[in-house]
Amino acid sequence: EQAPENLYGLLQSRSQDRDEQVFLEVPNGRNWTYGQAHQHAARLAGLLRQLGVQPGDRVAVQVDKSPEAICLYLACLRAGAVFLPLNTAYMRTELEYFLHDAEPSLAVVRPAGEETLRELAEAKGGTRVETLDANGGGSLMRTLSEQAPEPLPPHPVSRDDLACILYTSGTTGRPKGAMLSHGNLAANALALEEAWGWRQDDVLIHALPIFHVHGLFVAMHCAMMGASKVYFLPRFDADQVLQLLPRATVLMGVPTFYTRLLQQPELNPELCRNMRLFISGSAPLLEETFQQWYERTGHPILERYGMTETGMNISNPLEGERRPGTVGFPLPGVEVRIVDTEGHELPPGEVGSLQVKGPNVFSGYWRLPEKTAEEFTDDGYFITGDMATVSEDGYYAIVGRAKDLVITGGYNVYPKEVEGFIDGLDGVRESAVIGLPHPDFGEQVAAVVVPEKAGPKLDEAAVIHQLKGELAGYKVPKAVFFVDELPRNAMGKVQKNVLREQYTR
Ligand code: ATP
Ligand code: MG
Repeated sequence: EQAPENLYGLLQSRSQDRDEQVFLEVPNGRNWTYGQAHQHAARLAGLLRQLGVQPGDRVAVQVDKSPEAICLYLACLRAGAVFLPLNTAYMRTELEYFLHDAEPSLAVVRPAGEETLRELAEAKGGTRVETLDANGGGSLMRTLSEQAPEPLPPHPVSRDDLACILYTSGTTGRPKGAMLSHGNLAANALALEEAWGWRQDDVLIHALPIFHVHGLFVAMHCAMMGASKVYFLPRFDADQVLQLLPRATVLMGVPTFYTRLLQQPELNPELCRNMRLFISGSAPLLEETFQQWYERTGHPILERYGMTETGMNISNPLEGERRPGTVGFPLPGVEVRIVDTEGHELPPGEVGSLQVKGPNVFSGYWRLPEKTAEEFTDDGYFITGDMATVSEDGYYAIVGRAKDLVITGGYNVYPKEVEGFIDGLDGVRESAVIGLPHPDFGEQVAAVVVPEKAGPKLDEAAVIHQLKGELAGYKVPKAVFFVDELPRNAMGKVQKNVLREQYTR
């Protein structure tokens, strides 16, 4: 296929002549066909123009999941406007930041956020505010029926035109707005279609948020590339997912989906009889979870790796061995390398910085040229910020984030390795290993441990004692803290910067 330039055209081409095919099935029964969604998007695109949204303008969207929200995304692509989704957890301070950073000409928010946003928008000027609720109600849809705009023909875009600004998860600091072009997203959608083989008879369980790369680009683009049906759930709910499993073929989720489903006694191979693919990403999948899932369902989870800036780029294979603890091979068209601190490529087995290049890679962070320059090498590779290693036979494994690497007395400690041992101790539910400032060693290793509710009582000395024979001395935590829960962001990722701040005294 020719190098794609136009995401909307690509997505639409896959559902051409399939107007009657069900696209989004929502639990309360409001089903949308592909035909309805595209018609709605075309009229919404017309409305965007009438409201003064020009090609290249940002449309900020902080709404709950609904078919209308997906149509709004499609409408922005069609109108050449830049879709800018915002985490529904963001409150006043964050919204003020995004309003000033992104300067959207239109902001569509949940009714609950309307008052705050109107106030902020009035103070700032230049942003029109509309509302949209989870049931498709709100001022945006009222305006749509009042103004009855003509469907807008797709705005001609080129490969490098901006399609979206997607803020990163903010796991390591303030979220950065990744600028993704129509070409970036189209290239990624094609690579995913090829890698995972999307089909019209696929039925996807979608329980992810749509303000993040995983739920919006990976899940929605895949489904649309297959013109597949989507069970569109407002949020992850283990009972609801179990009920849908027999009627579905693909589940796409984060590792916590799988650990929660494993807690359900009803989970069995019979429920998964029509499933062809369980996919996990956004955070590391424990090998233990992979094994337990295989034992309980007969399916090896397909783990893959990606990020806001690049979309999906490394995936375990559809056919062939899915190796636990790895994320598999680069997707078609994606170049990947592992380098040392001097930028020299490392041989298999060695841990280094992971860099990515390809038509999927973003062009930079919105209004952060210096940050952008720091994250690209001279020869155009994006520095992912993750540490990785590759096996002799080409499977990539993510070792952790460079920022989370602990350097103590000149030794590198990869938190994931130590966490693996701590998690294996009796009475431990999960753990996070971090580096805390130390006057002599630069940093020292510390562990934050969540004990099992019913397990044996643990204390600092017991944890340290049990690790001593297992790990080199410099890797053994010098301090152990106990908590009920680890701080996580909306994607279920542990926020180590929060822990580092909390325990640095
Ligand atoms: P920020 O960049 O704002 O600190 P973030 O990196 O968490 O936040 P995202 O773009 O949502 O924002 O997440 C991408 C990151 O998620 C990757 O760089 C990687 O660290 C992690 N990740 C994704 N998939 C996997 C995986 N399968 N295994 C391990 N880590 C993963
Ligand atoms: Mg990141």
